[in-house]
Amino acid sequence: MSEAAQASAAPAKPKPFFELNVVQVRHWNDNLFSFRLERPESFRFRSGEFVMIGLEVDGKPLVRAYSVVSPFWEEELEFYSIIAPDGKLTPRLKKIQEGDTVLMGKKPTGTLVLDALAPGRNLYMLSTGTGVAPFASLIRDPETYEKFEKVVLTHTCRTNAELAYGQDVVKRTLEDPLIGEEAQEKLIHFQSVTQEEGEHKGRITTLIENGELFRAIGVDEFHPEQDRIMICGSEYMLKDLKEMAESRGFIEGSNAAPGQFVIEKAFVG
Ligand SMILES: Cc1cc2nc3c(=O)[nH]c(=O)nc-3n(C[C@H](O)[C@H](O)[C@H](O)COP(=O)(O)OP(=O)(O)OC[C@H]3O[C@@H](n4cnc5c(N)ncnc54)[C@H](O)[C@@H]3O)c2cc1C
Repeated sequence: MSEAAQASAAPAKPKPFFELNVVQVRHWNDNLFSFRLERPESFRFRSGEFVMIGLEVDGKPLVRAYSVVSPFWEEELEFYSIIAPDGKLTPRLKKIQEGDTVLMGKKPTGTLVLDALAPGRNLYMLSTGTGVAPFASLIRDPETYEKFEKVVLTHTCRTNAELAYGQDVVKRTLEDPLIGEEAQEKLIHFQSVTQEEGEHKGRITTLIENGELFRAIGVDEFHPEQDRIMICGSEYMLKDLKEMAESRGFIEGSNAAPGQFVIEKAFVG
């Protein structure tokens, strides 16, 4: 066999990324958008995990970590994105339209999963900005409501307009035929803004420390015996909340050793 024939007979290398069709794009304001991709049949993930997403640029993949917004059972895959003005990927990704192709990694991973938490009574999901994405997945997972009596999602942004996507996901959750009834009973949505007047004003750390969060939702302050906490946001927010959780006796969990709180960066800053 000639070399050329041998080369053409060699099995094709499996591609590291799925090439997926964009089925919907929605812009929420000048710097936030969401998009939906077709879901490959073989792709499995746990609610709360992230995956690499991106575009082919100059013949090479340009990818970044993205939390899957969809719960594990959804037929399409939704993502929620910032537009970082000086970023490499997002000024390009913001231009995608229905019918375009987006790359998606084949290996989902992450620590914001129910498996990383020991059993408890109340689950708190504390998010800032696009950090709401993994929790948008978890609040639509039936297991979340099987495992916890109360599920509290907090979302803090600079402005009221930036809260819109979280509000939309919560509305979809409450109306969902599969999960809506349980969510109506157990899900509490608390929102705050830091740079405008709003129903609640301030950083989530401040609202925890001054007790406003607990008074607003009518529950006791955090206690490691009954509460479990998931945290997703900026590096500063993670650092402050980790210190706060540890000072109250919470132990960090992981996939290998479930604990009382788990954290994940919403971006590398
Ligand atoms: C585990 C994990 C999960 C992530 N999930 C998401 C997600 O669901 N949605 C999402 O939009 N991003 C998410 N990110 C961030 C994402 O990977 C990219 O950073 C983002 O898409 C910007 O890419 P870029 O190449 O345009 O800019 P980059 O060069 O990656 O970032 C430029 C700068 O923009 C700022 N920045 C980046 N991402 C954000 C953000 N999300 N919010 C605020 N500021 C940011 C940072 O200061 C950063 O230094 C996640 C990151 C990690 C580590």
